[in-house]
Amino acid sequence: MKIGSSARPLKVAVIGSGPSGFYAAEALLKQSDVVVKVDMFDRLPTPYGLVRGGVAPDHQKIKNVTAVYERVALNPAFRFFGNVKLGRDIAVEDLKRCYDQIVYAVGNESDRRLGIPGEDLAGNHSATAFVGWYNGHPDFRDEAFDLSQESAAVIGIGNVAIDVTRILARDPDELQETDIASHALDALRASSVKTVWLLGRRGPAQAAYSPVEIKEIGELESADLVIDPGEVAIGPESEKDYADPQNRKNVDYVTERAALGEGGRAKKVRLRFCISPVEVIGADGRIVALKLERNKLVADASGNVKAVGTGEFETIPVGLVFRSVGYRGIPIPGVPFDDRAGKIPNAEGRVLAAPGGEVVPAQYVVGWAKRGPSGLVGTNRACSVATVKLMLEDVAAGSLAGDDVDPSDEAVPAMLHGRSVRYVSFADWKALDEIERQTGAAKGKIREKLTRIEEMLAALESRTAPLSV
Ligand code: NAP
Repeated sequence: MKIGSSARPLKVAVIGSGPSGFYAAEALLKQSDVVVKVDMFDRLPTPYGLVRGGVAPDHQKIKNVTAVYERVALNPAFRFFGNVKLGRDIAVEDLKRCYDQIVYAVGNESDRRLGIPGEDLAGNHSATAFVGWYNGHPDFRDEAFDLSQESAAVIGIGNVAIDVTRILARDPDELQETDIASHALDALRASSVKTVWLLGRRGPAQAAYSPVEIKEIGELESADLVIDPGEVAIGPESEKDYADPQNRKNVDYVTERAALGEGGRAKKVRLRFCISPVEVIGADGRIVALKLERNKLVADASGNVKAVGTGEFETIPVGLVFRSVGYRGIPIPGVPFDDRAGKIPNAEGRVLAAPGGEVVPAQYVVGWAKRGPSGLVGTNRACSVATVKLMLEDVAAGSLAGDDVDPSDEAVPAMLHGRSVRYVSFADWKALDEIERQTGAAKGKIREKLTRIEEMLAALESRTAPLSV
């Protein structure tokens, strides 16, 4: 029987329900070359990955993209299996027995470290943990941040660093109607943080944040964005970067802001350039200061600008440090992993056994797991569409998992039932969604997130209506 026909649809497993997973499912379900059925798995009972657990609560407009994902999920050829973790509840070998193709859309779940002395002192955190905590991600539900400190440092100047800074510096009253986790809102209300140092190792022409994001910091009612005019000047090495319109906007904006001085607001965001942390200094086991080295910028032959230490040091008093220097993937049992790059080795989306190695038949990758942690939510659409194009080429070439796939709809639910895995269907998620919205509405919030997996499963069990598959 021809695979991809109505009698024998192509069966695809998508692992991960963030933007790249949903864009892959969308591209598969939209095309008309082959008849396809998509099953999406997520280790959490809730879908949408970083849109739910990463996008900041004061950026609700970005979260509206879930309406697009929901339309994909309501396609009769789509099923969601939440609360099913690859490598724990189901193995790659199991998937190979039930699907013609597997797509990994697992993102980058871990963070990069700085590798400097003192990094393990109490008070030192990854931005990932802080973001997950204020967004009610179950992995970070029990994280604790000592917000009784008056001064915090955020290392790195990408958009994640900007999110962390904004949440620390914003008036918590402005967050109370959002979907911020209540435990975080309560802690932020009690916060004593008055100064947030935002530390960039290169100059304003190399900043990774977007112009709109830095402007949002400058427009906070509760905090002044303070920049030393001596740190915004552009040298000849940065001319190539300054020619880029985004970078030019960033340089012009910080130059304008630097001229405004200290301002009169109670909180300060102190944005610094050409400065690298070299040591986290502690006393009695916790952070009290950060030692910084001034950098000079040097362009190589292709015009790429690097920061080089000058041997000139300074120390700033801080009680909290958030490193926000990028994400990396974590290995999944049975799935190739490039430990150096922190992602799944691939050739434009076809999984490779090792970097530069052989293609692993019928296995694909999309999103951050494919290309590393870059781009905005929408960037993942083109990335997933490109991988799906290769998947369809492989279907046409007959290059699939094998002849012994069990394509029946019952195979996976039966396997999960047999292992007592309580998987969460999309209908179940919609029930959780409704509970969260109702609980939120009672408090004047968009939603009150359920923040523990047990809580989510208990909420589903206590419903009177039978659960659908
Ligand atoms: P990012 O944009 O890659 O920024 C990482 C930052 O860390 C850069 O400033 C980088 O500096 C710095 N860095 C790296 N290693 C360092 C070191 N050893 N010491 C000091 N600084 C170091 O990553 P991200 O902020 O994690 O964001 C990931 C992606 O998500 C980005 O594409 C971002 O735009 C996106 N995002 C978007 C939004 C939004 O649109 N609102 C929100 C969050 C995230 P160098 O440039 O010198 O390497």
